[in-house]
Amino acid sequence: MTNTDPILAEQLAYYRARAREYDKWFRREGLHDLGEERNARWRLELDRVFAALDAFASRGDVLELAYGTGEWTLRLAESATTVVGVDAAPEMRELALAKLQDAGKRNVELRVDDLFSWQPDQAFDVVFFAFWLSHVPENQADRFWRSVHDALRPGGRFFLVDAARAVPERNVVHGSQLADRDSATEFRRLEDGRAFRIIKRSLEPDRLARDLREHGLDVSAVETGEFFVHGLGRRA
Ligand code: SAM
Repeated sequence: MTNTDPILAEQLAYYRARAREYDKWFRREGLHDLGEERNARWRLELDRVFAALDAFASRGDVLELAYGTGEWTLRLAESATTVVGVDAAPEMRELALAKLQDAGKRNVELRVDDLFSWQPDQAFDVVFFAFWLSHVPENQADRFWRSVHDALRPGGRFFLVDAARAVPERNVVHGSQLADRDSATEFRRLEDGRAFRIIKRSLEPDRLARDLREHGLDVSAVETGEFFVHGLGRRA
């Protein structure tokens, strides 16, 4: 099913068009907007998230929401029995599949589907999502958390990582600016100059914990310092 909400459709169009630029941003390769010192800090904080994910140990059947270029998928595939990924951008899938193939990972199935209408068709031990929750609009949040809950076996666990509070000076995507703080939309610009509106909600660990309790999920979330927030939780 495709998206009828114009901003969600624009957000997806942005990520489809951005697929080939994405890893450069994530790895801070050749980007000078933050300066070298903060690029180094970014990598250091990212290593903390990787360490937390290693300690979490994604075993069993894992569901990854919005797998993107497959950076996290590769890590999940190391410890999981199987990984099923869902992302709506075929351009992302192509990049992720190439990485998985290069690494010889055969326990991963990557699907193309719209997460705003997708329903899980099996139960998982772990649900993982990186840099996705902040793109889920407030009016879809309840449905989103219900789908995480329903995708998990009783006692199943989830791990999330996202950008920490979106204050403008921390907005590291070149050409980006806050378009409208109240509706949590942001402008993003691609290298070729095209601009798109996307959803970008800030995530605060305490509020997250309160919201999730209402959905039968326990979470404990922490910030890594400047750039990231990560959390893990369990279906009660
Ligand atoms: N998780 C990956 C990572 O951290 O590298 C990618 C994160 S990226 C910020 C957001 C991802 O959401 C993109 O891969 C994009 O294709 C995907 N996406 C955007 N809209 C979507 C939708 N409606 N349904 C499923 N995936 C969507």
